Amino acid sequence: MNSEFVEIPSLMPVPDIFSCKRVLAIQAHYDDTDIAVGGLIAQLVKNGAEVFYVTVTDDLAGVTDLTLSKETAASRLRNEAEKAAQILGVLGIYYLNYPDAGDWSVYQARRDLITVVRQFQPDGVIALDPWLNTEAHADHYKSGFAAVEAAILADVLGVEGTDLQIPQEFHAKQKQEIKAVGLFNSSHANVFVDIDQVLETKLAAVSQYVSQFSDESMAGMLQALPKRSQYFAGIGHASNKLSKDVTYAECLKVLSTDALHAAR
Ligand SMILES: [Zn+2]
Repeated sequence: MNSEFVEIPSLMPVPDIFSCKRVLAIQAHYDDTDIAVGGLIAQLVKNGAEVFYVTVTDDLAGVTDLTLSKETAASRLRNEAEKAAQILGVLGIYYLNYPDAGDWSVYQARRDLITVVRQFQPDGVIALDPWLNTEAHADHYKSGFAAVEAAILADVLGVEGTDLQIPQEFHAKQKQEIKAVGLFNSSHANVFVDIDQVLETKLAAVSQYVSQFSDESMAGMLQALPKRSQYFAGIGHASNKLSKDVTYAECLKVLSTDALHAAR
């Protein structure tokens, strides 16, 4: 008897992330989204979507210049993130300021994110895949988990948020449903995004993040990202999920909120 496990495909339809017009990208660190899916973000903005970011940690652990005061380091990080956001067309960044690589509570972050989602009213959420099967950085899987749980619980009014004072610029004019949740850094991608037209924009955004990379490692990353995008495009071609004439791609796992709660 063959005792190997069989992967059961999901019956839930894959929503179109590009149908989303108000997207909240939730990340652990200031550069996570742009490095993984900055091309997707640029493409969403080109398609007319409003995109905002929430960065869960204060990101201070990764600053390479240890002589900087916390205040100076924090202001440089924000400055770099704002320049990258401007390049991609991201409208704003909200910081939860949990300690980078520290002992913070996923439950508390989830409560904060529920408040953010309730006020921001996104129709699309982008987050780190908390189920990446080799992720060792707790900030990544905790942020991802807090994000997906906030996405499914924000409209359950019996679940408490927090009393965060979210700036007015983040507030929505109308209530909407989350149509798609896109998880990046995923082991199980189901969507491949053509980034041929926005690769240079993505690289320009990523190159702003100088506080956390030496010149050498930044140069290495800017060389590696196009190669990684070609590799993803190859997987997209082989799985018939991407047109063969696309050279550079990003990939993510896109689900409906229904698919994130027991349903398959
Ligand atoms: Zn990170």
